[in-house]
Amino acid sequence: MVSLKEFNYSELERWVRKQGWKKFRAKQLSKWIYTKKVRSFDEMTDLSKDIRNFLNKNSKLNVLSLASYEKSSEDGSIKFLWKLEDGHTIESVFIPERGHNTLCVSTQVGCAVGCKFCFTTTDGLIRNLTTAEIIDQYIQSQIFVGLDRRISNVVYMGMGEPLANYENVKKSVQILTDDRMLGLSNRKITISSSGIIHQIKKMYEDSTFPQVRLAISLNAADQGTREKIMPISETNSIHDLMETLNRLPIKTGYRIMLEYVLIKGINDRPEDAHNLAKLIGRHKKRYKVNIIPFNPFPGSEFKRPDKDTVEKFHKILWQYNIGAFVRWSKGADISAACGQLRKKEIDRLVKIV
Ligand code: SF4
Repeated sequence: MVSLKEFNYSELERWVRKQGWKKFRAKQLSKWIYTKKVRSFDEMTDLSKDIRNFLNKNSKLNVLSLASYEKSSEDGSIKFLWKLEDGHTIESVFIPERGHNTLCVSTQVGCAVGCKFCFTTTDGLIRNLTTAEIIDQYIQSQIFVGLDRRISNVVYMGMGEPLANYENVKKSVQILTDDRMLGLSNRKITISSSGIIHQIKKMYEDSTFPQVRLAISLNAADQGTREKIMPISETNSIHDLMETLNRLPIKTGYRIMLEYVLIKGINDRPEDAHNLAKLIGRHKKRYKVNIIPFNPFPGSEFKRPDKDTVEKFHKILWQYNIGAFVRWSKGADISAACGQLRKKEIDRLVKIV
């Protein structure tokens, strides 16, 4: 049974025509699903009973159900654990910020990339999410927090490597940015990748992939350190990655975000900050740097650097006139590391069994 959240607008029109209905039915369906965010076909009151019966029998709307959630008392962020139809679970995080609300979405169950500082990758990759499963994270979260607290920003930084699930991620971005569907601004969507070079190139060459912001999980300024914490670097070297990023045809105002998880004793020396500045070199206007002090999780071999070290690192980048910002994790009082809430639920189920 197909979920209607699986279709971009032209696919939805095609599907509607295939049922022998007029094209405007796509517009009606889109309004109910994406503007009104109804939970059932029976609420679509301007469709005939026959059409509603057909929809109930042959298609579905929702593909996620809420398994649990944790709300931070410190900053109001909410971490959702969603149950998929096959029983697997994924997470999304709602982050209220000054003037806007952001949702961090997952793109895979687990992840194959294997970054050493990441909790999600512990069990490897289980499967890609479908387009509907990505989009439903947005819709269900929006319903949960209330339609009056509009989620205007979406970051693909949850569980999984988005560019390893290229087609479904692309279609979800089409749905998010299409004015006839969710209608978010392209510049408010960020795709974060571990740096799979051929997929980054593909995305920029693909005229059907709406241009959105790109973030790269860099985390080191030299090949040796990066390989230690990000095995993907063995085949996607830091040199080739930066060469590619320096040449991408980015739009004005779409600076590439370099994410740098600062880990005690691994990549947090002043020398690392100087090396990072040198790596960026004359391309300062193309990048912003997000310094993210590591968020320890149970069993992790790494530690968070102290505040002084973080500030020193930050200051050095500013001395080079590089736009750098420190981002302390939101919701530090809840299971903040990506994948942690999911692991808690799995452990709970294992105990029950
Ligand atoms: S940081 Fe992202 S790409 Fe790396 S293992 Fe975790 S989920 Fe995968």
